[in-house]
Amino acid sequence: MNTATSPGRARKLILVVIDGLTPDVFEDAVARGTAPTLAALHEAGTYRRAHSTFPSLTPVCLATLATGAHPDIHHIPHLVWYHRAEGRLVEYGSSFGALRAAGTRRSIKDAIVEMNAKHLSREAVTVFEALEDAGLTAAAVNTPCYRGRTRHLPTVPGFGGPVEGPRRFFYYNLFESDVTGAPLAIRTRSGGSIDAYAAAVGRWLVTRDGFDFLFYYLPDYDYASHSLGPGGAEVALERSDGAVGALAEAPGGPDEFLERYAAVVCSDHGQTHVKQAVRLQDSLTQRALVTASNRAGMVYTDEARKVAERLAREDAVDVALFREDGVAIALRDGGELQLDPGDGGWQRRAWHALSNPNAGEVILSAAPGFEFADLGGRHHVGGGSHGSLLDGDSLVPMLVVGAAAPPSEIAGVAPLVLAHFGVEAPARELTPA
Ligand SMILES: [Zn+2]
Repeated sequence: MNTATSPGRARKLILVVIDGLTPDVFEDAVARGTAPTLAALHEAGTYRRAHSTFPSLTPVCLATLATGAHPDIHHIPHLVWYHRAEGRLVEYGSSFGALRAAGTRRSIKDAIVEMNAKHLSREAVTVFEALEDAGLTAAAVNTPCYRGRTRHLPTVPGFGGPVEGPRRFFYYNLFESDVTGAPLAIRTRSGGSIDAYAAAVGRWLVTRDGFDFLFYYLPDYDYASHSLGPGGAEVALERSDGAVGALAEAPGGPDEFLERYAAVVCSDHGQTHVKQAVRLQDSLTQRALVTASNRAGMVYTDEARKVAERLAREDAVDVALFREDGVAIALRDGGELQLDPGDGGWQRRAWHALSNPNAGEVILSAAPGFEFADLGGRHHVGGGSHGSLLDGDSLVPMLVVGAAAPPSEIAGVAPLVLAHFGVEAPARELTPA
């Protein structure tokens, strides 16, 4: 199969993000043929394992995928954080319990509207904005980080909006730029109704050739993996594969599909097993506000070193990060080191997270098997979780068909997409601490 891009005209490109899919599970499904569409794409493309960003939590990672920037530039710090200017908590949906604790209406508005309209830095240009500024048509299905140049009104009158999305914009039936006849997204979450909605919209878009770039986000795998644990959600992956298959079938099958489209398939972060949950705030006597969820936590405090040193002693904490006199410091394995932003591994990801103006003064990365309970006291003991700097949470599958070589980190995806279309990427300066 010839997947080379013909000179002068870039093929349309589809970015498929399967939430929470680990490289192990992806590689196994491809090898055993349990995910036939993904296997066909793998056969035609180039594959590697790549790193996510930190904290390896969905809103943070999807903002990185959409902008090509780490949190120091895009400013989304965590699933839950303290908004210093507004003096309040922002909770994007760690759990229903956490949503209730932070105020359900407020949280839904934060997750759906404010994250894009206000929290996501305007300096972090999204792939949708950059492509549409260049005269191309961008599309998004269900991705929580969607900021574009076209105003959309909600389908439910009175629901917070309008919002700015890409020209073709579909978000859980709440925003629909076109009438597609897709079923309701929120019916049976565990049965994969959201990915079924994405499949119906995706099939409609491909059939009409309705975009140059499509961000096709499939969250149902992560949902299943949280309850069943990584590796236990095979059926969910088969459904995700079916949702990708719906795109490939529209033009007649994988071969015809790849003649028309380049594709990138990846996840936003990995997942690891959780055996134990702790409440970080129980270990603190200092004046401090803890925002924690999954396998990452933050502390807003005037006593950063004291808090970091106290929490670094906990079994649940692998790394405690804080800033002191403008220097980014990590406490790990009983030692202390100054983070090197030029480091190729975890130090650089930690540095980016700590350099985010919305992050807490202290950031905690969980030890293997541990989770930090959220605002509602919820956790995933017995299932899967993610958020830490460790490879199990941070490594993702990265497959590219018909475009440049797969990037080594998810921050490389947006630049790859822009380069594919010959659009100049926004400059990203790495400013050392
Ligand atoms: Zn995710």
